[in-house]
Amino acid sequence: MTDEQPARTGASKRPSPEGASPAMAQWFALKNENPEFLLFFRMGDFYELFFDDATAAASALDIALTARGSHGGEPIPMCGVPVGAAQAYLSRLIRRGFRVAVAEQTATPPSKMKGKGKVAAQKGPLPRAVVRLITPGTLTEDELLEPGRSNLLLALVAEPSRRGLPEWGAAWIDISTGQFETARCTDAELGHLLARLDPAEILAPPDRDLGEYDLRRTPGEPPSSPDTARARLAESFHVASLDAFGTFSDAETTAALMAVDYVKRSQAGAMPRLTPPMPQEDQDTLGLDPATRASLDLLRARDGGTEHTLFATVNRTSTAAGARMLASWIAAPLTNPARIAARQACWDWLRHDSVRAENLRTILRSAPDIDRALGRLSVGRGQPRDLGALRDGIAAAHLAATELTRINGSDEKRPELIKRVLGDLQECAALHDELNDALADELPARLEDGGIIAPGYDEELDTHRTLRDDSRRIIASLQADYGERFGITSLKIRHHAQLGYVIEVPAAVGARLRSREDLQFRQGTASLARFATEELSALDAEIAAAAECAATRERQVFAALVARALDDDKLPALARALALTDVIRSCASLAAGETWCRPVVDESEAFELVACRHPVVEAALGSGVRFAANSCSLSPEKRVMLLTGPNMAGKSTFLRQNALAVILAQAGLPVPATSAHLGTVDRLFSRVGAADDLARGRSTFMVEMTETAAILNQAGPRSLVVVDEIGRGTSTLDGLSIAWAVLEALHSNLRCRAIFATHFHELARLTESLPRLSLHTMAVRDWKGQVVFLHEVVSGSAKRSWGVHVAKLAGVPAPVVERASRLLKELEREHTAGPQPLPLFDAASSSQPAHNEPSSEVSIPDELREKLADIDPDDLSPREALSALYALKKIAT
Ligand code: ADP
Ligand code: MG
Repeated sequence: MTDEQPARTGASKRPSPEGASPAMAQWFALKNENPEFLLFFRMGDFYELFFDDATAAASALDIALTARGSHGGEPIPMCGVPVGAAQAYLSRLIRRGFRVAVAEQTATPPSKMKGKGKVAAQKGPLPRAVVRLITPGTLTEDELLEPGRSNLLLALVAEPSRRGLPEWGAAWIDISTGQFETARCTDAELGHLLARLDPAEILAPPDRDLGEYDLRRTPGEPPSSPDTARARLAESFHVASLDAFGTFSDAETTAALMAVDYVKRSQAGAMPRLTPPMPQEDQDTLGLDPATRASLDLLRARDGGTEHTLFATVNRTSTAAGARMLASWIAAPLTNPARIAARQACWDWLRHDSVRAENLRTILRSAPDIDRALGRLSVGRGQPRDLGALRDGIAAAHLAATELTRINGSDEKRPELIKRVLGDLQECAALHDELNDALADELPARLEDGGIIAPGYDEELDTHRTLRDDSRRIIASLQADYGERFGITSLKIRHHAQLGYVIEVPAAVGARLRSREDLQFRQGTASLARFATEELSALDAEIAAAAECAATRERQVFAALVARALDDDKLPALARALALTDVIRSCASLAAGETWCRPVVDESEAFELVACRHPVVEAALGSGVRFAANSCSLSPEKRVMLLTGPNMAGKSTFLRQNALAVILAQAGLPVPATSAHLGTVDRLFSRVGAADDLARGRSTFMVEMTETAAILNQAGPRSLVVVDEIGRGTSTLDGLSIAWAVLEALHSNLRCRAIFATHFHELARLTESLPRLSLHTMAVRDWKGQVVFLHEVVSGSAKRSWGVHVAKLAGVPAPVVERASRLLKELEREHTAGPQPLPLFDAASSSQPAHNEPSSEVSIPDELREKLADIDPDDLSPREALSALYALKKIAT
């Protein structure tokens, strides 16, 4: 128990315990300790739920609601789930946001004791206790977890700051793997952290709005003062001071203790194995705010699915731990070129040896999940196969090490990171040998099933087993003896659940035996009769005793092995090295086809992608259609790109592929391009135009503007901003004005690298005033009046929007298309004939004091004037005149 007691959620009137039966009195007591949980109350082979719990669970699980006895004159609503099938029901409840307290019987009912013929009379209810709280953030069972995803519990603690808004201390634990990290952030950055971690459960003060994460909140108050928290944490990790692990703020420390306490409480006091808390410095990772993550479909797509995501497209890992590590790389790309290069060097080195890489894949495919097995073992929920997983996992690591050492022979060619991985993979040999000797080859699913420890490992266990088996053998030989003695060939000796070992004979001959002194009649049915003998009873008791001793001894040996495994501090590093090997191999396989490259990532301001692709769109296109690769160059002289083009031409795809390339490159992964050179990006902003994001059903223009504000307030010179169709959610002129101003601010104030896609072709005029703006457009071919999208980015700007053509393509009825087409011509004529259409736009805006041209004049670019002045029409051949005209037109548009 902790001093932190979450407030009850969904309070409703609960009946009082007065006048309850003894078992129900127990229920009331346990429920009272865990008011915010559904209480799974063990009764025999069922977990029963009562009162409101029953009503809620019955409807959530779609099972029958019944009633039992009565309480205060009313029947008690009740429902139950069989113990054997509890996992499936639990996982449904957890997924629906319930939290469950499991109360078990803490003593064996006398009827289950071996060697007793009769059910003993029961006095009072069996003792029961809550042995486990099951909440979304504290799961360890494989059935309840997604293999390739981390399952995080996050604790948040606010620290008042001088500037008004609180600063936050955050700590998160993956109890299934023992990962334990902390961070601090400002109130504004909290959203980034939530989006990056995507926690399953969040302990947070009730007053902070967590947006879409609100549903995962468990109310929690910091447990104690920072100093006490420091002391208690240090004690938990057996160090004199927390400083041993890094520097933690007060809020970080209290958050860490809050998380640990909650985890401990959920395991009924047992402390799972955790790594020491690791403070994260966020300068080390690429800044990705929630809107950016959402727009890029990194780990989850916007529709919540996992199929069309960056992760799914690049994931070639073979183990769950590898998948989790790869996901964490994508969720938090790096900014330090040396660390990025260290990762790259590994897969770049491995990719040239396809034979060894394939061998590694085979080894990894059969490697079990060491982390999660350790997680279960450390909270006392380990099963024989979890120890088996450690044995087989270490064996796989050793095999992987051998395979790695064979690659490219010499030691000095091996990347540094591989050398470290190799060291870690080769550890734990002693533990492996121990487990290998101790464990049977085939392990049972449950501890109770026995047969876990191999013969020959433990002398005492072997003795008990021999006794047990000898007695069984004697019984087997007795069958023939008795058959002969009583002259009944069909006599059998059988083991019977209630009666123990008995002689079974057909009913017809049974009558003949009834009178014998040395036989005790036990049971008769229509077809057979059962008898016991003193000899059999004695042997039965011996077998039961020996079996009991063997089982007890086996549990002791198992517990000793578990302790030994948890004690091996090299094992977590070995598991990490194995996961890393998997990720490296996954990357190598991606890069092996030569369509993914190793990017150069450095401190420069470069942004050069040659023939780059959008990996997710490409994968979704199918085999018949070729994805058109596009290059992108944002040199310091032209660091902002304006991309115009009609709808459906591929603008959004191009924008996102550049953003994804940055994420992949900085995560240390291969990039889908011929070559790439990137100066590290500190923060990446990607926005989807409101119109593309209607599914989220919010006031779209407001959302768009909030997100735009976030970019303008946060982007700096090392940031990359990709903005898609800004200003779509409002009227044309409003939208155009906003897009215009934002583009100017990106170019001249923030000085970041940016790609700006728009269907406002008018913005192309801005190149006159913005020297570092380059104009690009999506190539479109007009084929007999039909639009053909080439999906190619070319320099220049779009001349038409082809909207009416797209409408036709989409199947808008012909009369409507024709009418629209006529209207368009009409409007275009008015547009050109009328007064200056966009007097709003002042080329000499406040951020551009250098330009003083009067805004109402049609401005002619200087370059065009110069070129025109250079041309003497009389001097030109018709052919030269034509090419001069082409050149002028190019400058003018
Ligand atoms: P826009 O943003 O200009 O309206 P999108 O980027 O949404 O266009 O692209 C529309 C569709 O065109 C995509 O769903 C995809 O099927 C296809 N597409 C886009 N870019 C490419 C490309 N480079 N190669 C092949 N198909 C593409
Ligand atoms: Mg688009």
